[in-house]
Amino acid sequence: MASKNRIGRREFIVTSAGALAAGLGTACGRVPLSEIEAAAAKVGRLPQRPLDRSGRKVSLLIGAADWAPEAIEAGILCGVNYWHKSDKWNRDSVPPAILKNREAHYCEVCVDRVHGNHETGAIDEEAHYQYVKQAVERTGLRYFDDMLCPHFGYHNTAELKDNRGAIRAFERLKKEGLVRHPCLSQHNYNGNARVPGGEDAATVLAAVIADGLYEHAQFFFSFGDGEEINKFVSLAKSKGFGTTAMKTGAGTARMQADSEFMSKLPPGTTPHHALARWLTTSTDLSTAVIRINNLDQFVDTYSGAGKPLRAADARAIEMMTAYANREVCRLCNDCMTHCTEGVAIAEILRYERYATDYGERERARRLYAQLDKRGDSCQVCGSCLPHCPQGLNIPAKLASTHRLLS
Ligand code: SF4
Ligand code: SF4
Repeated sequence: MASKNRIGRREFIVTSAGALAAGLGTACGRVPLSEIEAAAAKVGRLPQRPLDRSGRKVSLLIGAADWAPEAIEAGILCGVNYWHKSDKWNRDSVPPAILKNREAHYCEVCVDRVHGNHETGAIDEEAHYQYVKQAVERTGLRYFDDMLCPHFGYHNTAELKDNRGAIRAFERLKKEGLVRHPCLSQHNYNGNARVPGGEDAATVLAAVIADGLYEHAQFFFSFGDGEEINKFVSLAKSKGFGTTAMKTGAGTARMQADSEFMSKLPPGTTPHHALARWLTTSTDLSTAVIRINNLDQFVDTYSGAGKPLRAADARAIEMMTAYANREVCRLCNDCMTHCTEGVAIAEILRYERYATDYGERERARRLYAQLDKRGDSCQVCGSCLPHCPQGLNIPAKLASTHRLLS
């Protein structure tokens, strides 16, 4: 894959001794530093662009603390400089290369609601304040650049307006030099029986921009998504509000495991590679995050960042969209108000994506076990079926997910 970005290994790190001095190769004993350097050299230096009105420049694809450690080190070599969920690290697992060059990285703390989950829990100024203070201590990062609060977002625009606990916690922490920029992630709550008055992500995020306090947001975004979220991304760009796509894969891992699908894909590309090119050059996003489990995935995916779609990639995206529309819930919640049993359809199918697409089966099982109504509560009445824009066979998907996660 020839590319302007592809540069020799020696342009990253002159010697392995130099790499070790920079704190690389010390966090992941399992994979030799030479393999990490070789992977980074295949990807090259990632282009950057402004994240938001702060003017900070971030790599077109950012990283996450739950990546494989060797992929994090390759990412650092390639210039990945924003780290989602940095509070998942502790003093033993935080990459030494980030600690040694702290100001070169933007580390984000992700703050959940308390006394319940994202649907039932509360926004609580004091609890959020204490969580971040403890996370600073636990990680040894000294401060977090970005405070993502509330994780999962506001239930509706009224809550954004009336409940300022997250913002007050941010302001207290900012005065102490422990956080610098406020941001949030936002899920859909429209039609959610556990969240009365819940609204969709695009509606809440448009209100977040108008409110003017937050600087950037993360939300579900992938190929084949509807007009609403695309309109929001364009609006955000025009206002200098930063946008990060998450849950971008929409079934790419299951496509990769489907030999028939892969045999029809145009030669010279892959689902993850085409996805990276599309996200970074064919949308108005500031950046995106993609789950990476090993060095091969890192190379396959991140080598596409900032490169235009070729004919093969465009065709791959068309095929991936058709596949995702057939197989993967887009978490739009449109079916939810129509379920006579109050089954948390989108929540269940989100966990199916964790297990099937992100290799997080144990996490998915744990979350699934906590639901008050699981897939086996479905009475196969069919009331939801006409309301799924993708025409998914919802009862069948709930049944297969129940088998997968029970
Ligand atoms: S088929 Fe199942 S999920 Fe759909 S409305 Fe009926 S009970 Fe709810
Ligand atoms: S099952 Fe269909 S309608 Fe329901 S959340 Fe998924 S994509 Fe949307």
